[in-house]
Amino acid sequence: MAHATATATMRAMLFERPGSPLRAVERPIPRPAQGQVLVRVHACGVCRTDLHLIDGEVQIARPPRVLGHQIVGTVQASEAPTLQVGARVGVPWLGWTDGECHFCTSGRENLCPNARFTGRDIDGGMAEYTVADARFCFPIPEGYPDEQAAPLLCAGLIGYRSLRMCGDARTIGLYGFGAAAHILAQVCRFQTRETYAFTRPGDTRGQAFAREMGAAWAGGSDQPPPVQLEAAIVFAADGSLVPVALRALEPGATVVCAEIHMSDIPAFAYDELWMERCVRSVANLTRRDGEEFLALAPQVPVHTTVASYPLERAGEALEDLRAGRFTGAAVIVP
Ligand SMILES: [Zn+2]
Ligand SMILES: [Zn+2]
Repeated sequence: MAHATATATMRAMLFERPGSPLRAVERPIPRPAQGQVLVRVHACGVCRTDLHLIDGEVQIARPPRVLGHQIVGTVQASEAPTLQVGARVGVPWLGWTDGECHFCTSGRENLCPNARFTGRDIDGGMAEYTVADARFCFPIPEGYPDEQAAPLLCAGLIGYRSLRMCGDARTIGLYGFGAAAHILAQVCRFQTRETYAFTRPGDTRGQAFAREMGAAWAGGSDQPPPVQLEAAIVFAADGSLVPVALRALEPGATVVCAEIHMSDIPAFAYDELWMERCVRSVANLTRRDGEEFLALAPQVPVHTTVASYPLERAGEALEDLRAGRFTGAAVIVP
């Protein structure tokens, strides 16, 4: 095990500017400040948000930056009284909040205007080591290997938060069946809710995978579901799916948009929104989401399907995600 000293270095994949590939570099191992821990990264999930960052659709204010916000590792050094060396932790997208604004003090720290996000404003997990604010780290449930746990930290969490916005809906459409949906379908089956999975038209492999994960029905997004849906969650970055999902809903139902960036939503007739249908987005996570979901996941139990890549192939993992070359989630193993 490498020892963290001022002179030691680590391997990292660095984002420099939109449109240019991640670059493999050697950098000094970061040192934890007061309240932070140094984490030896064992696994880091890849997320579509990483693609939006690389493509410049979501801005990184101060590059260069180490991406990666679904980190599982062990505490290697601690400057925080609450976390001991050796503890296994998860580091999510929400990396820091001011704790005092109107949103933070009303249970909505996910909306904090001063929030800093892991892998965007703070160096993330596509490296051998990272530092994190101990207050925003989660304990990882026992029994989950590192690689299987990593996708729980964003795909799982954003799916869980999206599901909360669906209220008590019993029939839920999942548009885009990737990392988040493959976790959420398992959670819904556990809660005796039915999921209807929509993939790219003709993606029969994706549809078979969705049924394996517990979906009651799977088809292409060009097909209508066999029942009227009580809610829908759009996990794809394609805005044209929003009116498609809206048309599948019963009165009073909600379409939840879970992506951080989407292409424009095409115009649609007011009639399709009428009868108290609703379109809303879900942004980021709160620590409460994390605590609740990480307690729920082992009860289901959620089993994640992962494709693993060594650190130097992080760029390839992202391009495979873009092209839909794997089912489930991709994980970087430094
Ligand atoms: Zn993410
Ligand atoms: Zn705040």
